[in-house]
Amino acid sequence: MSAKILYGKEFAARIKEEARREADEVKRGKGIAPGLAVIIVGSDPASEVYVRNKQKACDELALYSVKVELPEETSREELIAKIDELNDDEKVHGILVQLPLPRSLAKHEAEVLNRIRPEKDVDGFHPMNVGRLSIGERTLTPCTPTGVIRMLEMANIKIDGAHAVVIGRSNIVGKPMANLLLQKNATVTVCHSHTKNLKEITRTADIIVAAVGHPKFVTADMVKDGATVIDVGINRVMVGGERKLVGDVDFDGASEVAGAITPVPGGVGLLTIAMLMHNTVAAAKMQLGI
Ligand code: NDP
Repeated sequence: MSAKILYGKEFAARIKEEARREADEVKRGKGIAPGLAVIIVGSDPASEVYVRNKQKACDELALYSVKVELPEETSREELIAKIDELNDDEKVHGILVQLPLPRSLAKHEAEVLNRIRPEKDVDGFHPMNVGRLSIGERTLTPCTPTGVIRMLEMANIKIDGAHAVVIGRSNIVGKPMANLLLQKNATVTVCHSHTKNLKEITRTADIIVAAVGHPKFVTADMVKDGATVIDVGINRVMVGGERKLVGDVDFDGASEVAGAITPVPGGVGLLTIAMLMHNTVAAAKMQLGI
């Protein structure tokens, strides 16, 4: 194995420490703790774990947190009313609706997310924040890709002038990832399911970000010697009768050629919650005029 392994834990701890320091400054200056509200509708087991981890991180940093649990049969109107209530709640600076929504509400997802006031949109999914990111303004940006940028910077991996290839163009990972890399002066190529000659493209990348949702999709022969490989994928697969989490990258193979690589689990996943804490504090600072 030749690649340096980028463990998310170390970087997440640094991001959280910074968020804690800033949250303490807010408390000292304004006497208010930054607050996060998480809405969960229904009882998806994976979502419940994510929400629990988000609450835990808030407790760790002594942030104010509210968990709103709504039943599966919640109507569109009830969910919107709850968001409106939190939009008006001065103790809440960030609002997050845990996805996926139950099937009956899935068609209202865009409306629901757009109902969160842009200044409280700690997921960075509101069109106003998406627009601001794309024109290069400072704003709340999606947690996972922003965490990736912070990790690259902390690991001293040069983004400026690098050729970054993002595989995936979803609104929550691929597109914001590409925009953030562009802001940092990378030359960015975005690949997706219609891309031809993917391997030829990834082999020219200094940085590969895989956000595909297919286990072990990126193999060693797709990676240039010494490239940085960031694996955003989280796939649940059965191995020898056991459920396992694997990424979008064939870690064993790719780590033989890459210069640096993130593992799954233990890589990018940990950065997402740390960045959520960062965004909650940033939202509070903006709202309190700090
Ligand atoms: P989506 O399913 O929304 O997007 C997947 C993207 O991959 C699409 O743009 C799709 O292209 C592209 N794609 C699919 N097949 C191919 C192919 N054969 N060649 C090239 N591109 C392809 O997924 P998400 O962006 O939401 O998530 C991606 C992964 O990241 C998932 O494993 C998810 O679980 C994980 N994730 C991890 C997070 C974390 O905290 N670490 C947070 C969010 C997601 P097209 O647009 O053409 O369909």
